[in-house]
Amino acid sequence: MVQGNKSLDIVIPVYNESENLKPLLDEITSKLIGFFYPLTVILVDDGSIDDTPVKIKNIIKEQKKINIKYYRFTRNYGKEIAVKCGIDQSGSEFCSIMDGDLQHPPESLIEAHEKLTTTDANIIYISPKKRMTHFHQKLGAFGYKKILNSFSKAKVYLTDFTFMDKKTVDIVKQFNESDFYTRGILSIVGLISKEIYYTVHERKYGKTKFSFAKLINLAIDGVISVSTRPLRMAIYAGVIVSIISILFGMYLLFEKLVRGQPIPGFATLGFGMFFLGGIQLLFLGLIGEYVGKTFIQAKKRPLYTIDYKLSN
Ligand code: UDP
Ligand code: MG
Repeated sequence: MVQGNKSLDIVIPVYNESENLKPLLDEITSKLIGFFYPLTVILVDDGSIDDTPVKIKNIIKEQKKINIKYYRFTRNYGKEIAVKCGIDQSGSEFCSIMDGDLQHPPESLIEAHEKLTTTDANIIYISPKKRMTHFHQKLGAFGYKKILNSFSKAKVYLTDFTFMDKKTVDIVKQFNESDFYTRGILSIVGLISKEIYYTVHERKYGKTKFSFAKLINLAIDGVISVSTRPLRMAIYAGVIVSIISILFGMYLLFEKLVRGQPIPGFATLGFGMFFLGGIQLLFLGLIGEYVGKTFIQAKKRPLYTIDYKLSN
């Protein structure tokens, strides 16, 4: 690394964050200017339907202290894809991914820079000390972390607030999968990650864009995109269930032929039918997930489509 090069790109996915934009950029400017130079904010507008584009145009006209690059998607692609677009545009020595709702304090990036440059880490995860005000978020996060970590070989962190070096960015740029999932990708490429903490603020304006359903979908994507281990599990489960059925069948034969006992027909039939039916449905769904992903990927569509770009 070039000694003293402290150029930073801050990638921020925004979807209807119009009220947050100005305070966010002011916060970044006041906390980070003088430390990182040049400082570039890469705003990826994930097809906002509020007045985000108008606000941006004004901010770009006024803002002289930091560089602003604005990419507007033609439609809403989801946060992960917006992040990917931002990373694709990053060329600085360091890159950070931050939410656009002021929940991530910019000053933490100075501490992250310190941690990254004084250790062997390539990625710094900046985790909340306490977060998630809703019960479903807490429950989801707890189970999600456990599940995700058990499926992927590397540790998966729960935060989207990250700080990484150029090497990491160049590697992430090479991933062009349709279900791009930043944390999953970062965890499988085998770079060294460390964690620091920040205290959480409530969202200043607007409300969270993630409903319970969206969170569940994100969780499923997270697991499916990092590994194919669930497929292996389907095979194991299939084998185990078959063995149990065979043993059960043998037991029934034994009861009937050796002990001469009558077997209550509908109970055993019903049990077997529902049990196997359930398992089959579950794993059919699972296989379908992968087939679906393959189908999408096979089309080799662009990950995102940009309507227009603006910069100061
Ligand atoms: N976001 C996005 N596309 C979406 C949903 C959200 O780009 O479809 C952005 C949003 O503007 C914000 C970040 O992703 O900058 C995190 O969203 P949010 O604060 O709603 O999520 P939470 O903090 O509740 O997990
Ligand atoms: Mg938020």
